[in-house]
Amino acid sequence: MTRPDSSVSPAAGASFAVLPLAPAQLANLATLGYLAMTPVQAASLPLALAGDDLIVQAQTGSGKTAAFALALLAKLRLEGQSQPFAVQALVLCPTRELADQVTTEIRRLARSEDNVKALTLCGGVPLRNQQASLEHGAHIVVGTPGRLIDHLERGALQLAALTTLVLDEADRMLDMGFHDAIATIAKQCPKQRQTLLFSATYPDGIAQLAQQFMRAPKTVKVRSQVDAAQIEQRFYQVRDDERLHAVSLLLEHFRPVRTLAFCNTKQQCRDLADVLVAQGFAALALHGELEQRERDQVLVQFANRSCSVLVATDVAARGLDIAQLEAVINVDTTPDAQLHIHRIGRTGRADATGLALSLASLDEMGSVGKIELIQGSEVTWYPLAELTQAPGGRLLPPMVTLQIVGGRKEKIRPGDVLGALTGEAGFRAGQIGKINVNEFSTYVAVDRQIAEQALQRLTAGKVKGKKVKVRLVQDERA
Ligand code: AMP
Repeated sequence: MTRPDSSVSPAAGASFAVLPLAPAQLANLATLGYLAMTPVQAASLPLALAGDDLIVQAQTGSGKTAAFALALLAKLRLEGQSQPFAVQALVLCPTRELADQVTTEIRRLARSEDNVKALTLCGGVPLRNQQASLEHGAHIVVGTPGRLIDHLERGALQLAALTTLVLDEADRMLDMGFHDAIATIAKQCPKQRQTLLFSATYPDGIAQLAQQFMRAPKTVKVRSQVDAAQIEQRFYQVRDDERLHAVSLLLEHFRPVRTLAFCNTKQQCRDLADVLVAQGFAALALHGELEQRERDQVLVQFANRSCSVLVATDVAARGLDIAQLEAVINVDTTPDAQLHIHRIGRTGRADATGLALSLASLDEMGSVGKIELIQGSEVTWYPLAELTQAPGGRLLPPMVTLQIVGGRKEKIRPGDVLGALTGEAGFRAGQIGKINVNEFSTYVAVDRQIAEQALQRLTAGKVKGKKVKVRLVQDERA
């Protein structure tokens, strides 16, 4: 029933100028700040402008309205018609709220042409007023199915000149029991028309609708850049003065073993690490001003699971290659939406869902909007007040790092350290974690429960036949 799309679409982020749009429309898009296409637009506009029937899987926030609005506007015949104001495009929406939003967006996109008339027809407003508006004529009608049928039955709405029918949020319309109403309306539209169906999900009812009312529709699916099955995203609105405290609330509530916390500035990194350490968290800051040796030490501790929270700027976290992160916290929402996707992509793992927690103040809502566009879906907000302290006391990392003075220079190898701990010292291999041998020192992670004993026994014993100096790395930040 549906044909796969075999044509090549421009990439998301491509300019609208690659589309066959009028120069005035391109200028209008630039004025609106629409500089690049969203993924849904890049995938659907070339087909929609070519006149194909489309089934587009897209969510609110993906830029889907412009995807159908630009197509229907490009086809409008504004002059030289026998019926100058005949309805040429009809958009069905599940709710009045959505219909209002759609009409607003269509009007913005119609600014490049003079005199395009778009009308909303929804319940809750006297029929008579709407009839009067219809008598004045409209090129585009946006409405909810029930009210549109009222107008059709009264003969106030004529669809003989229609060329585009849009079903927006078709899955929601089906959920709300509008199947028969949609069918009634579609039957009154001319057979020679383009039908564009937008839906966030693809239940069976959608395939039925498509079979009944669409002609060889092509399907457009945009793979979200954020795999919802892998990453659970939660957004929290905060005031700037509660932002740092909110991070500790999140840590105490979700208790992730390892969290990468992103800040937009070095100063914010330092402030947050200080606050967290003061509250008893094993937190370390990674920023551009650390010496190489300090940076290595921070990374070793985070990688070997003896640091719960690594606070970093994007630049500092570049090249950080650590799998199995339970959580990413966006302490500041980045104005670069692509960077946000990159940040949270560090947490999704093969075997379990990663947590991506983002804090945003009112000032950052513009950045949140950009994230919604690029990821192709709206974000979900959660109240900070719902965060509770999970049982289990202070959040501590499972491991502790011991530093042995001596490294590659002394020809120490990981096996020597493991041998010292599991041999004479009497520990099980399962109690020993990652061993990093650097030039002058060796770091070994040991189970938190055995940290003191391991320190004592290593100090008392020998590594590679020699006495060594050992210390707990944690001491430095307490
Ligand atoms: P929608 O998914 O249609 O509700 O659109 C979400 C928001 O993105 C609306 O506020 C649009 O005005 C805006 N928008 C749509 N397309 C673009 C684009 N290519 N660039 C920037 N903003 C856009």
